[in-house]
Formats: sequence, C-alpha cells, structure tokens
Amino acid sequence: MKIVEEYTSKNRKSMQAYEKAKTLLPAGNTRSALYWQPFPLCMRRGEGSHIWDVDENERIDLNFNNTTLILGHNHPKVVAAASKQLINGTVLGAATETEPRLAEEILGRLGADKMRFTPSGTEANMQALRVARAYTGRPLIAKCLGAYHGSWDAVPMTPGSLGVPEAVEASTLYFPYNDAEAAQTLIRRRRLELAAVIVEPTMRDMTPKPGFLEAVREVTEENDVPLVFDEVISFRVSHGGAQGLYGVKPDITTMGKIIGGGFPVGAYTSKAGLMSPLEAPEVELPQVSSPALGFSGTFNAHPLAMAAGLAVLKEMKPPAYEKIAKTGDEVRSGLKKALEEEGVKAHVGGVASLFSVSWTDKEVYDHQSSQSADRVLFNVFNLGMMNRGVFILGHPNVSAVTKKKDVEHVLDAARETVREMKPLIGDRAPHLLA
Ligand code: PMP
Repeated sequence: MKIVEEYTSKNRKSMQAYEKAKTLLPAGNTRSALYWQPFPLCMRRGEGSHIWDVDENERIDLNFNNTTLILGHNHPKVVAAASKQLINGTVLGAATETEPRLAEEILGRLGADKMRFTPSGTEANMQALRVARAYTGRPLIAKCLGAYHGSWDAVPMTPGSLGVPEAVEASTLYFPYNDAEAAQTLIRRRRLELAAVIVEPTMRDMTPKPGFLEAVREVTEENDVPLVFDEVISFRVSHGGAQGLYGVKPDITTMGKIIGGGFPVGAYTSKAGLMSPLEAPEVELPQVSSPALGFSGTFNAHPLAMAAGLAVLKEMKPPAYEKIAKTGDEVRSGLKKALEEEGVKAHVGGVASLFSVSWTDKEVYDHQSSQSADRVLFNVFNLGMMNRGVFILGHPNVSAVTKKKDVEHVLDAARETVREMKPLIGDRAPHLLA
C-alpha cells in the first residue's frame, strides 16, 4: 500500500532503530501504547508544538506524550524551574518545599483537602483504591468496561485479561460507560461490598451523556460508596478538570500527566476524612507512631516533577484553558468538515483539547460501541498523517502552543489522507463512504 511504502521510505532510521530495539525489548520499547505497525517512530527532540525523529523528519506534535505536555515541549518556564531544581539536586531523600506548593495549587482548583503524589497515574489509582478499601473496609471495585486506569491487576480494561488471577478478577465489577441505569443497579445491589466506583469523567474520546455523571454521583452518595474520578487525562480539559467542566464532584480524584511538567508523576486528592488511614497520629515523645496504612516510594513527589509541574500549572490560568479548548474545537469541526466534504463517515469525538477520529458510522459512547471502529483505518490514517508532517497516535490532543498554522496544516493533511484512503475505505468498510 502506497501510504505504508511512503512511511517506510521516509523513516529508514526509525525502522533500523526498531529492528535493533525489538531484539532487546518486547515490541521494541517499554510502552505497549507506543507500538504500531509497520514500526514505530524513534524520536530525538521536541520544541514547542513540533517534534523531530531520528530521520530528522519534523512533525506537528498531536500526541504530546499522550496528553502530558499541555505547554508543549521545553516551555521556557518549565525548563527554568526544572533546571533550577536539577542544579540543587535531583532527589534529596526528604520532603521538599515545592511538594506542598504544588499540592496547594491543585487542591485549590478542586476544592479538596489533602493529596499524595506518586510517580505515575497507574500508582495514583493503585493507592487511591487501596485507601478507599482501607477506609471502607470493603473489598470490591466497580469500573467501566473498557476503561483504562493503568497497567495493573485490579482494573483490567475488560474481564478475562491475561495474567490476572481469578481471585483478583472476582473483586472487580464492570458496568458500561454512559449507562446510568446499569451503574445504579450494580451499585445498589453490591453497595455493602463496594469500596469504590472509579470512572473517567470523560473516557478517552467519549464524553458523558447528559445526566450520566450526575446519576453515578447520586447513587454512590446515597449508598455511601466513595466515587473516584480518574482525571489522569481529563484534568487538562479545564482549570478545575473535567469535574469543573461538568460540575460533578467525586470523593477522590486521581491525576497525572500535565501536573508533572513532563516528568513522571501521579497524584490523588480527597476530603481529609478519606485520607485518614494515611495520617500519622501525633503522639508525645518518647512514643512513636505510624499511619494505619503506609505508602512509600523512592521517587514519589520527585523534586523535578514537582518543580516542573508547578511551573506548568502557574502558567495554565483559566483563559489558557479556554484558548486551548477553542483550538480543540477548531480541530474537531475542521476534521468533521473535511470528512464530510470527502464523503467519508467517521466519528469525531473529544472535548476541549482532546479529539479523535473513530472509523465507524455509529455513535461512540461506550466500550461496545467503540468496538465498531475499524482499527486498520485508524492505523493507516495515522500513518498518512505522519507522512504529511503530523505526529498523531491514540490520544490526539492540542496544547497551549499549538498554533493556528499548525491547525491549518493538520486539517490539510487530514483531508489529503482521507482522500488517499478512500479506495481502502471502499474495500474494508464501504458503508463509511457516503
Ligand atoms: N488513567 C488513565 C485514564 C490514563 O489514560 C492513564 C494513562 N494513559 C493512566 C490512568 C495511567 O497513567 P500512567 O501512564 O501515568 O501510569
């Protein structure tokens, strides 16, 4: 296929890098999401809204490390904050002054009382759900089918995932995203066993149907089950995250990505009471005390992540979120227009700075409906975009430094790619041609 041939010829050094790396690393690198066919790109540097690979191809970045870099690559203020910390030491083996400053910034935005930092969103969810189990004394977790809350045993995207012991599997219950009735029925039925319900307020490119988040909030509150919002991605959709955008408050919020300024990070917040198992009781010397539930981690609240994250959040005032959402609107409406004018039916989803194209003519609102999307067309579209100077993967997004001319380039590239793909669409999915 011409798109694949062009991709291969433009990315010779990436291909060689992959051939070598796959002899050393399963699938050629350490993040499963960064493998795609025929081979993934090997990147060398980024600046602002652009990224360069080892073949020196320059592309507009629409990945930003899977939604992390809300200020783009190497923002001067982030570089300055991280450099200052780097000169003062990487990790100091003790609390730093930056950690509570970042906490204050985040807690103020969410109206929460306390928080803990972790090195990843995965660990934020691991700890948050353990805290919920410790606090409630209950064993089960309910989550949405197909939702990703990190790579660990208790929250597989779907039941029957490889390597999860039956005993662990039995402690996870599922309901479809956007199905308020199913959520209510499940939560009411299992309320005495449920330690927490975890939901992404906006699940990848799927946005909540009116009333869904409200219904989940109401039924969890009525039944005294802590509600966790996984805002690892969605914290970027407004100054107060998706909960600010949709006006629904959870009991616990987990996050990551943007709050570390490009360094490894995760965090969870809640009202003070829920965090009580983590508090160290204050006692008079010579007594010693320790919290009921202890969590440690050599790289938790990494000083570089705290410094860089604080620099990002100080820069991202409410108008900056409005601007980036407007850029997102332009991309979504431009993509819809290009598809329509080319006579191709596909679903353009997302909210604020997040967007995506799903190759289906169905409405996409939960795991099952998202399965109707053609994955080959998804991959080929991305390759065609990469051939035209746009780096796009599974969680497309724009950042505060995405410029008007970047958007114009992206939309031209999308139109040309869709046009080029039409014979393939005709072969694979003729129902998508108008
Ligand atoms: N939750 C959600 C909603 C995510 O999208 C991700 C990662 N993409 C995670 C949790 C895990 O975060 P991390 O990759 O930092 O471990």
